[in-house]
Amino acid sequence: MQKEKLYGKTLNELISVTRQLGMPGFAAKQIADWLYRKEIRSIEEMTNLSKKMRELISDNYEFGLSDPVKSAESSDRTKKYLFKVLNGKYIEAVYIPERNRATLCASTQAGCKMGCIFCMTGKQGFQGNLSSNEILNQFRSLPEFRSLTNIVYMGMGEPLDNPGEVLKSLDILTNEWGYAWSPSRITVSTVGLVEGIKEFLEKSRCHLAVSLHSPFNEERRELMPVQKTNTVKEVLEIIRSFDFGKQRRVSFEYILFKGLNDTSAHIKELSRILNGIRCRINLIRFHPVPGSPLNSPDLPDVIRFREALDAKGILTTIRASRGIDIQAACGLLSTLEQNKI
Ligand code: SF4
Repeated sequence: MQKEKLYGKTLNELISVTRQLGMPGFAAKQIADWLYRKEIRSIEEMTNLSKKMRELISDNYEFGLSDPVKSAESSDRTKKYLFKVLNGKYIEAVYIPERNRATLCASTQAGCKMGCIFCMTGKQGFQGNLSSNEILNQFRSLPEFRSLTNIVYMGMGEPLDNPGEVLKSLDILTNEWGYAWSPSRITVSTVGLVEGIKEFLEKSRCHLAVSLHSPFNEERRELMPVQKTNTVKEVLEIIRSFDFGKQRRVSFEYILFKGLNDTSAHIKELSRILNGIRCRINLIRFHPVPGSPLNSPDLPDVIRFREALDAKGILTTIRASRGIDIQAACGLLSTLEQNKI
């Protein structure tokens, strides 16, 4: 029988573990230290716990790290890793090195329920929520773990459709007893689940990114079925009413599709609905996925769109396309792997 995993437990959960095993209370903090502050991979290496305690823990738990099963490296040094998760499915983590930073793009679900029509993960359907262990394992078991400066929850799945495990993983990443990362190095991206955003804003201090892709209701509904139940209007109301302070950032992801959402009417409407929100728009040039009728815009058109938004006073950046030669579009590599089974 599979033992429960220690890695991915919060300090409170570790306190319950030590209580259950009849160990002294301070042992929970020592275990958290070994799990998140020291680079060990086995319970046996927790040498400030007595041998008897380590045996007791090992009888009931496993450490819980697992290496990627496959990787692919792009000519631009972006690397995509496939991890096998407990339900036998594959999830993807992408390592993106840049001049001054190195970012992990992590997954939070196997597959996804949201059904965005431009996304390969959406086409897989939903296969399960990742546990905090499986989310954080993408970080800790990444060969480039030590060089990471930023994490974005923008891989497979909708993070705020799995709020419990996502918030737990953020707690471990940012708490003093955990990795003690600054929340300003972590961004969580959502399609705009209203209740999830409220909970995330209240319980975490990490940055928020909302996938917008169109300022028009009808058009957005076609691209992202989530708009039927969670409208952008509601999302923007929450954002307007929340005090982000100086450190916390909200951004909007906008995938540009040729001839669809790249007109001057879109620019005008974007500037209208975002009026008064201190934010940035990240433009992403669409890269076709198999079976999609949507097309990629030409780079000069992307630049023109950015300049027009900038001129409206909205800070706009173009996200560099990375790892195109290694199926870096979210969900592509895992779909190929799954289809082999
Ligand atoms: S874009 Fe994100 S939310 Fe939409 S289907 Fe893909 S993984 Fe899910």
